[in-house]
Amino acid sequence: MQFSEKNMADVANKYAENIEGKFYVDDQCIDCDLCRETAPANFKRNDDGGHSFVYKQPTTPEEEALCKEAMEGCPVEAIGPDGDAVLA
Ligand code: SF4
Repeated sequence: MQFSEKNMADVANKYAENIEGKFYVDDQCIDCDLCRETAPANFKRNDDGGHSFVYKQPTTPEEEALCKEAMEGCPVEAIGPDGDAVLA
């Protein structure tokens, strides 16, 4: 699989099952498992859809750090940090 360029996650394209809050997974997810391995307390797999989503927002600094690590490690930048931004 090849990706010629990386695109930032877009809150407008986030999956509906993401729990409300800062972090989310958008529809660029390729189901690579990295975020679920990195931050299992926050990311889960949607087995029907074949992608990840945030099922719990981080509640401790440790969880937040792991979510950031997952976001930075995501190969397609499908994880966004701006899910609590106000949408027009
Ligand atoms: S790291 Fe990115 S591409 Fe991989 S499962 Fe998580 S959101 Fe999807």
